[in-house]
Amino acid sequence: MGYTDWFEKHALKHKKILDKLIEKKYTKSQIISYFDFDSMVKNEKDFCPLYKDNKKCHDMESLNCYLCSCPNFRFNDEGIKQVDSKTQFSVCNIESKDGRQGVYGEKIHQDCSKCGVPHHKAYVEKHFDLDWRVCMKECSL
Ligand code: SF4
Repeated sequence: MGYTDWFEKHALKHKKILDKLIEKKYTKSQIISYFDFDSMVKNEKDFCPLYKDNKKCHDMESLNCYLCSCPNFRFNDEGIKQVDSKTQFSVCNIESKDGRQGVYGEKIHQDCSKCGVPHHKAYVEKHFDLDWRVCMKECSL
């Protein structure tokens, strides 16, 4: 699955949950808490493939899933640019010290596996919007 496919599918899953919570009149704070890993694993099993194994994507005690993937992620399935005759498909817009560029043959992809930036509750509160697409509006190049 390319980035665009994942993005579109995830946006729909996110919206379905938000529609339900808005109908129940959840506040911003309640919505963010609902997206805590411990809650999502119990209540929204289909949201993330890791949930079935009760596994977190990052080794963090408190992990929030609202801003998966990350507002700082930039991607283009056709390629962003050529780097040393390889094609770069994704990058971190803030050059997080915890992210890195992974080289896979002729392809370069952003590796966020060691970066927890978007999973901190304070970050989610700061960048919150009821519409996940608005939070992620800069991601697709
Ligand atoms: S490295 Fe961190 S801040 Fe950058 S895109 Fe990945 S998760 Fe977001």
